[in-house]
Amino acid sequence: MDYLPLFLDIKGKRVIVDGGETVAARRAERALAAGALVELFDPEPGDEVRALFGHENLTHHARVPEAADFEGCFIAYGASEEPERDQLLAEAGRAAGALVNVADVRRYCDFITPSVVERDPITIAISTGGAAPVIARNLRARIEAMLPDGYGRLASFAARFRQKIAERISDGRGRRRFWEDMIEGRAGDAFLAGREADAVAQIEADLETAGPVTGEVWLVGAGPGDPDLLTFKALRLMQHADVVLYDRLVGPGILELSRRDARRINVGKRPGYHALKQDEITALMIRLAKEGNRVLRLKGGDPFIFGRGGEELEDVARAGIPVQVIPGITAAAGCGACAGIPLTHRDHAQSVVFVTAHGAGGVLAHDWTRLARPGQTVVVYMGLGSLGQIAAAALEQGVRPDLPVAVIDNGSRQNQRVISATLETIEKKARAADLKGPALIVMGDVVTMRDKLGYTGVAEEHVSLDIGAQSGL
Ligand code: SAH
Repeated sequence: MDYLPLFLDIKGKRVIVDGGETVAARRAERALAAGALVELFDPEPGDEVRALFGHENLTHHARVPEAADFEGCFIAYGASEEPERDQLLAEAGRAAGALVNVADVRRYCDFITPSVVERDPITIAISTGGAAPVIARNLRARIEAMLPDGYGRLASFAARFRQKIAERISDGRGRRRFWEDMIEGRAGDAFLAGREADAVAQIEADLETAGPVTGEVWLVGAGPGDPDLLTFKALRLMQHADVVLYDRLVGPGILELSRRDARRINVGKRPGYHALKQDEITALMIRLAKEGNRVLRLKGGDPFIFGRGGEELEDVARAGIPVQVIPGITAAAGCGACAGIPLTHRDHAQSVVFVTAHGAGGVLAHDWTRLARPGQTVVVYMGLGSLGQIAAAALEQGVRPDLPVAVIDNGSRQNQRVISATLETIEKKARAADLKGPALIVMGDVVTMRDKLGYTGVAEEHVSLDIGAQSGL
């Protein structure tokens, strides 16, 4: 982040705008709306600026500004599009201690002006750090379309209860929760639907019954890695959690979507720390929930597919804590889609099985002829490290050597890589590609669809392999 976002209080402060055309008019308008005393300098201002004349806080000087004009100035806007005027404004403004902004001249900008969505008293300011203002404007249009007009009024309405809520609920976390339930619950709905009296009644009733905060546990699937593959529900709960417990499978960019001030606890491996054991994780969740926290356990993929969600659910429920499970897109579904490999297909596979390569006691001895039978796709989780062993066992048991096999590494993420080969060659190829995981193995004729379709759901890193040239493989 190159800039610090702030909302400045400029009521009664001196703001200088140098220029007479559209940009100057916009700057002056906004500063006046925020209560500033605006002094606009221009010998011959255009219609848009003239339209502002008569505003009690606007003074027009029919000349260009001089250094002495900047005394006591809080913000100096350059909008004349004349390099000499810009330079004078920037230098004199800065010398006087003002914050300077000259339109489209980056070296003369102490701050940038964001794109703004207004639902008074709500103000949303958007910036791309100056990189691509068009994107900011585009986003602004989308947010404008998304926010009901009533939101500003809802904010003012809710503010009327601030004092009462603060008096009735002393603990900060309880207050935040009350506000969330109020805005997103029945009271908010009633207000936005124009039933203000009902909204008031609801808030009064809720205040009457407000008790101490109670904890909960949410087991949430985060999908295979691409943040766009989160569910709406996962995202919503991530906004409400007090504590987020996550592990290394949760893709980058996802955790950032949780509430800013939620505590984040890494329960997976990281350098210098031990990963928490499963029973320690469960005990931690239970303790945090008993302290009144909304605990969100964020898991890669789906919590109930090789995610130990079942065990966590059992233990948490047994401790008497309310618990919800939110499904996620499991790696098989996510990786299949993003690698262009349909897991079932009328011509190739009428069934699909998900297996894990590892059990509690190490690599599992699967019956590969039964799993990789004709017409069935096999998806192997946690198999990258034992790919050689898996392929050898399958071959030994009599699975055909030319069975198509793919390894999908970091599926759905920006660094997705897909290696496709056959049962006989996959280990060599995958080893040559030096995959880092997480990776999924897909076996079956559906793998050939990838080349046939030439489709990939994400832009993949280019994989170039020349196995012959790699000695020792
Ligand atoms: N609950 C998860 C699976 C956890 S087991 C789910 O439903 O997806 C961990 C294994 O999932 C990894 O070893 C790997 O085989 C697979 N996996 C998870 N995310 C993946 C990804 N983005 N790309 C490839 N494989 C992935």
